[in-house]
Amino acid sequence: MKAPSFELVCARHLDEVFELLEEFGDEACILAGGQTLLAGLNMRLSEPAVLIDIGGIAELKGLSLHENALTIGALVTHSEIEESVLIAEHAPLLRLAVTHIAHRAIRNRGTWGGSIAYADPAAEWPACSLAQDAVMVVQGRTGQRRIAADEFFLGLYRTALRPEEILIATEMPVRVPGEWVAFEELARRHGDYAIVGLAVRARVHERRISRLRLAYLGVGMTPVRVPLTEAAFEGRLLSGELIDRACADLSQELTGSLEPIADLTNSVAMKTRLAGVLLRRAMGRLADQVGEIL
Ligand SMILES: Cc1cc2nc3c(=O)[nH]c(=O)nc-3n(C[C@H](O)[C@H](O)[C@H](O)COP(=O)(O)OP(=O)(O)OC[C@H]3O[C@@H](n4cnc5c(N)ncnc54)[C@H](O)[C@@H]3O)c2cc1C
Repeated sequence: MKAPSFELVCARHLDEVFELLEEFGDEACILAGGQTLLAGLNMRLSEPAVLIDIGGIAELKGLSLHENALTIGALVTHSEIEESVLIAEHAPLLRLAVTHIAHRAIRNRGTWGGSIAYADPAAEWPACSLAQDAVMVVQGRTGQRRIAADEFFLGLYRTALRPEEILIATEMPVRVPGEWVAFEELARRHGDYAIVGLAVRARVHERRISRLRLAYLGVGMTPVRVPLTEAAFEGRLLSGELIDRACADLSQELTGSLEPIADLTNSVAMKTRLAGVLLRRAMGRLADQVGEIL
């Protein structure tokens, strides 16, 4: 199919973006890597009059490390994350997750910011940002706001971004000694959007686990954490028995308070079951890693 006609403006500065958003309101749409937006336009899912291409704005590019925080610019591509030494060392969860995103050609153009702003509940970056305790830096004409990832994803494709704001960057704490991560995903074929995925981050000291983050993609309207299951591990020895118990309780937490949703081919019951399978795999992997180190 063919996209509707639109005006394309290539912005060079953030001020220009904010002016255009103010001038055109709902009629304008931000264009980053275009890997989601252009497909949607071709399918006539939306018909914006103006596309504001932010691809030339230098302030939105690049990865940087400052004290104990890693900053990912909104325009950093999935491939840049895949190849970054900074990411491999300081945010290894993203390195584990990135190759699950689509295929190389899409990863070369698609951006971190596009994925976060689009907020597809089956996408990898929103769930990873929850597991990483990330903070979204958003900006509009009147200034910047910082929003914790936990408060950023509000509903299906819905975020805390206001119409006059864009995502500038995401900040996340760097890995500390004793911190371990795992990423598991089930998809129909490699590169497809996930049926269910799980991003895990935890500290382990003398085999005891603390500050566990379990962030699921593909089970709800947003990426979701499972706080009761996380809490069940706090301060405990990482053992097979503990993992068995947590897997048994997880389905109750998911169906009780988090309202998992079905997709075209997988029922709620199937998604809940797969969430348990991934929890078992991820925690087993974490136990293996920790065992090797001790
Ligand atoms: C075949 C295919 C398979 C895919 N598989 C996966 C997958 O498995 N996992 C996955 O996560 N993704 C997948 N994607 C999506 C891909 O990762 C996209 O790159 C990403 O979702 C959007 O990034 P983008 O830079 O292309 O954004 P765009 O398409 O340019 O924009 C997407 C949306 O975000 C808005 N936007 C973009 N940047 C900003 C910003 N800085 N501030 C505010 N709003 C902004 C746009 O207005 C638009 O609404 C797939 C895409 C395709 C075509």
